[in-house]
Amino acid sequence: MIAENSSGPAVLVWFRKDLRLQDNPALHAAVSGGYKILPVFVWDPEEGGHWSPGAASRWWLHYALQSLGSDISKLGGELILAKGKAAELIPQIAKDHGTQKVLYGRTYDPPGLATQEQVEEVLDREGIDTESFNVSLLQEPWETKNGSGNPFQVFTPYWRKSRAIIYREPVQYSPSKLSFHPSPTPKQSLDELALLPDHSWHQKLEEHWVVSESAAHEQLERTVNEVTHSYATRRNQPSVDGTSRLSPYLAWGLISPRQICQGVLQADNEGSHRGENKFLVEIGWREFSYHLLYHYPSIPDQPLRPKYAAFPWLDDQANLKRWQFGNTGYPMVDAGMRQLYETGWMHNRVRMVVASFLVKHLLISWTEGARWFWDTLVDADLASNTQGWQWAAGCGADAAPYFRIFNPITQGEKFDTRGAYAKKWIPPLEKLPSKYVFKPWEAPASMLEENGVDLGGNYPEPCVDHSEGRARALAALATLKTL
Ligand SMILES: Cc1cc2nc3c(=O)[nH]c(=O)nc-3n(C[C@H](O)[C@H](O)[C@H](O)COP(=O)(O)OP(=O)(O)OC[C@H]3O[C@@H](n4cnc5c(N)ncnc54)[C@H](O)[C@@H]3O)c2cc1C
Repeated sequence: MIAENSSGPAVLVWFRKDLRLQDNPALHAAVSGGYKILPVFVWDPEEGGHWSPGAASRWWLHYALQSLGSDISKLGGELILAKGKAAELIPQIAKDHGTQKVLYGRTYDPPGLATQEQVEEVLDREGIDTESFNVSLLQEPWETKNGSGNPFQVFTPYWRKSRAIIYREPVQYSPSKLSFHPSPTPKQSLDELALLPDHSWHQKLEEHWVVSESAAHEQLERTVNEVTHSYATRRNQPSVDGTSRLSPYLAWGLISPRQICQGVLQADNEGSHRGENKFLVEIGWREFSYHLLYHYPSIPDQPLRPKYAAFPWLDDQANLKRWQFGNTGYPMVDAGMRQLYETGWMHNRVRMVVASFLVKHLLISWTEGARWFWDTLVDADLASNTQGWQWAAGCGADAAPYFRIFNPITQGEKFDTRGAYAKKWIPPLEKLPSKYVFKPWEAPASMLEENGVDLGGNYPEPCVDHSEGRARALAALATLKTL
């Protein structure tokens, strides 16, 4: 039973990782039911425990809320912001406004699942109805099972069975039809949520991203017009704009995967209708990551393959710092880490190279890498980050075997043939002939001098020898075989 007041029946729409007005099933349900909407976002800095959103993610969230708030106010409403426990605040706000129903989008990370369970429990006790929706995935993580009824651990059969989900369509309604419930109570301001980090690092991010739902759609348009038709050939080249850069928009739900798939299908890019379009397959990897996280909720901290829990990682703080700030002496690795620190994003090929270097050449645990990514990526996503790191460390589902060790020199030569990417992020290497960009220590001393490279001065010497690092990694792996 929905309570009516002077302004008509109202529902509370609890925004979570769906900070958008279009293709939002909770809003669609509110419109179809003829309800006045009370839009609410709750920031609980403690919800995620040690996986609470990192600095870059909070920066993104700040601007995403600002943008959503402004979009809502253009339609005559006001986004209510609150800080604290959702299980206390959502029922309280619902009661204060006489709303008898709460609509929200489900999340699937373990802390988010726990929160929505607690919220549901309290609302149920208070006699307030709830309805939840899938707002961030093409399918529910539990929807596809293998022939024995178990979760998949290998991507190819998972995707073969699932890929028809790319045809699932966004919900259609016009956001201009939304009507809002007045909210007379005092609210918190965006600044009071204190999402922006204290230090000024985040200011750099402002130069690289426009954070809004409309910017997400512009990015999709660019993707459809300029990226997907050549994605198969250009997606591995970090020096070109060959990928969509939609990941941070997806992370807080400024756009949905359904909208992305429809955009690609409508443009009829090659192979899209057979589910073979390479770009759509990557959206499939995002789904697979959620499938894994949902079924194996301990994987953000524990390897999926249990024997890797005994891996003899090193506690090497000096090398960890070198890696974090792009000072390992391996240009492909350092360019990636500098791109990340500068822009909050890193090209996927380079993510694989830097991750492999950390866990193999430096023998530092994947959890350290995952934490650094978590803090610095604007697209930080517990499912994809965990999957990416466990893949690199060889301890996850469908992972690269640990013994397959990326060579950071040849990876650079193969995927950044002219060294443009490395030179962009490491200015001291700018004038060095391409032949030596990924191994400057092999260049003759006179050439280094002529081109302004001072190894150990303006660019470091390698922190570990490639062959020694490789041999040490294989020896560490061998200790697991005796277990
Ligand atoms: C060690 C490591 C950590 C990673 N951490 C994250 C993370 O925290 N958040 C994140 O979104 N992605 C993560 N990825 C996956 C991938 O690198 C990024 O999704 C991709 O680089 C984002 O750029 P894009 O939007 O231009 O991707 P595109 O190439 O344009 O791909 C389109 C979309 O598909 C999805 N996607 C692409 N590749 C993958 C993948 N391998 N796994 C899962 N989804 C994928 C993303 O949602 C992406 O936006 C990680 C990969 C590695 C190797």
